[in-house]
Amino acid sequence: MTYPTYHNLIGGEWLPAASGKTILNVNPADHDDIVGSFPASDAEDVNRAVAAAKKAFATWRLVPAPKRAEILLRAGILLQQRKEQFARDMTREMGKVLAETRGDVQEAIDEAFYVAGEGRRLFGQTTPSELQNKFAMSIRMPVGVVGLITPWNFPMAIPSWKLFPALVSGNTCVIKPATDTPISVYNLVQTLVDAGLPAGVVNIVSGSGSGAGSALVEHPDVRAISFTGSSEVGSHVAQRAAATFKPVSLEMGGKNAQIVLDDANLELALDGALWGSFGTTGQRCTATSRILLQKGIAAKFTKEFVARAKALKIGNGLDESVQVGPQVNKSQIETSAKYVDIASTDGGKILCGGHALTNGDHSKGTFFEPTVVGGVTHTMRIAREEVFGPVVSLLEFDTFEQAIEIANSIDYGLSTALYTKDVNRAFTAIRDLEAGITYINAPTIGAEVHLPFGGVKHTGNGHREGNGAIDFFTTWKAVYVDYSDKLQRAQIDNAE
Ligand code: NAP
Ligand code: MG
Repeated sequence: MTYPTYHNLIGGEWLPAASGKTILNVNPADHDDIVGSFPASDAEDVNRAVAAAKKAFATWRLVPAPKRAEILLRAGILLQQRKEQFARDMTREMGKVLAETRGDVQEAIDEAFYVAGEGRRLFGQTTPSELQNKFAMSIRMPVGVVGLITPWNFPMAIPSWKLFPALVSGNTCVIKPATDTPISVYNLVQTLVDAGLPAGVVNIVSGSGSGAGSALVEHPDVRAISFTGSSEVGSHVAQRAAATFKPVSLEMGGKNAQIVLDDANLELALDGALWGSFGTTGQRCTATSRILLQKGIAAKFTKEFVARAKALKIGNGLDESVQVGPQVNKSQIETSAKYVDIASTDGGKILCGGHALTNGDHSKGTFFEPTVVGGVTHTMRIAREEVFGPVVSLLEFDTFEQAIEIANSIDYGLSTALYTKDVNRAFTAIRDLEAGITYINAPTIGAEVHLPFGGVKHTGNGHREGNGAIDFFTTWKAVYVDYSDKLQRAQIDNAE
């Protein structure tokens, strides 16, 4: 089979890896379909890309922010025109169904339009000085060269959440896409180039985490790292970055709970749970992986939910009638199978699914059945550890207070959902759930770009994407202008 060869983008030139090594990008729904060959970059390629970004920073930082923003606006318009093709490329490289990959490209479009407006804000503050004839203000400065490391489950949306705010703020970027999904980053960056982005402002270095990724984290000229991925790798990245005092933004794993109270609209709760659990084949950081059911509705909900999970159509995401695509690779279906075993051993009951699908239309891909585990208690590993696949646990509780306690009893804190008609409980949950995101009567998935996105505990280290990303990609400078024409002293006791 013939397939295209992609190169790194370094200083405006498309170049193979210095080592000449490549990695094949394969369609997880059909292993005979090879999407392309990509460079397997290492430290040498990263060094070149960082040098190019450093050079470009000298001029990019001086481009007025509204002008930088115009490039993002144009990129957003171009993305609208290219949406269908980019969605198809994305479905081929990572499997999720077309409706979702269109949504992924749409999120990059939304982000472009949202961040483009920031070019005419980037607000700082003015404040009175304690001295006469002295002016005081704070202004946002770019950080410099920033390193961006992204996962495979939102192959264009997540890179856009990082690239666009970094660029409008005046930084230059080196991005390392996930090994499984480089083409979506190529499509995104090519669009920025076509929209007028100067050479060297964004550089792509494809390759493995241990090769290209760690070299980026350790490079002395990289001033900040923005990482989205697993908590395990995030912890490693933060520790390595600490050696050169780089600020690190970490967006990591989740074990998200949907709570359903007895008074909930059960149909709505079922729709939300099905979408939250099996959308993106359960491979979302915000995926619903625990459904907490109040005892009054538990039996009815369980019966209906299992029936709906069994009825889902699994297959190639390019087929518009398919509802659930493959998992991204073999290692992900192995993880799903491993957790099904762990759940059974710990006393959980597999109510449906539980196996990889290997026959017929599924024989050439990495498919796993939508799986529902009943009889789960909050101490079991299946209720505590991230699976990142189509495997969801059902837990039962008596009181609202118990539900909050169970929801909070894990290390992660990304998304939560509560289904109820009781406004008092809704607001109590908003206050008490330990998570960066709480939905009322909506599923755990479905963030919008202009709100803060991120989590607490092992999910994040305090930074936010969306509304909040500018805070990470800029640094404050305090400015004092003394127009008294005499020495005025602060930080001394001027009281008489
Ligand atoms: P991952 O294995 O942690 O990888 C994330 C990125 O880090 C990839 O580009 C990876 O490269 C790279 N990487 C791996 N080892 C590295 C190292 N030693 N140094 C530097 N970079 C390294 O995560 P994933 O499997 O791609 O994505 C799934 C995880 O992401 C889940 O835990 C999910 O919850 C989380 N996630 C979180 C959010 C959020 O915003 N909170 C959003 C989406 C996903 P390779 O691809 O080459 O391994
Ligand atoms: Mg692939």
